[in-house]
Amino acid sequence: MAPEMERMVHILNTIDDVINCQRCDLALTRTHVVVGAGPLDAKIMLIGEAPGKNEDKKAEPFVGSAGKILNGLLEESGIDRKDVYITNVVKCRPPKNRTPMPNEVDACHPYLQKQLEVIKPIGIILLGRSASEAILGRKVDLGKEHGRIVEKNGCKYLITYHPAAMIYKRTLKDTIAGDFRKVGALLEH
Ligand code: URA
Ligand code: SF4
Repeated sequence: MAPEMERMVHILNTIDDVINCQRCDLALTRTHVVVGAGPLDAKIMLIGEAPGKNEDKKAEPFVGSAGKILNGLLEESGIDRKDVYITNVVKCRPPKNRTPMPNEVDACHPYLQKQLEVIKPIGIILLGRSASEAILGRKVDLGKEHGRIVEKNGCKYLITYHPAAMIYKRTLKDTIAGDFRKVGALLEH
């Protein structure tokens, strides 16, 4: 395990034994808990939905096909993946990659909350509806709200689609790439 990941696990263990966590039923089907990856002093944090098959196997976020798309989006926006912290709303893979249920999101939320407190990012990119709704605490219509920057608790959140949405709808590529270009605005004070 990378030292920065080990350090995050240590921090999250103050909530519960995170890599053996049993706080929700996703514990019954996962292989690995995917805590997150990246420097603990990152200025930008990215929040996805949940680990998929490859992430569950490797214990790292966004290493499968959605990860490849994300890498492309980051590169195009001049962001080095090594400089951002990446995590998910829930840390364990839901069976068949279904959307995490509200009780699972709630059970896992203390970990995400702690990650926000520790990393204190200046800007956060919310990748898709699960992340947007979990963080903003309300329904989000991505069709209407993607590309918007929302301020909450002294932090700026950029709402966009999940990169995997591009796999199903190629035409979203330009839309998401356009949203990612607003990352600069996310970092302005
Ligand atoms: N999709 C996500 O939301 N998160 C991952 O880590 C991988 C795919
Ligand atoms: Fe624990 Fe979160 Fe995994 Fe549920 S999804 S078992 S709360 S780490």
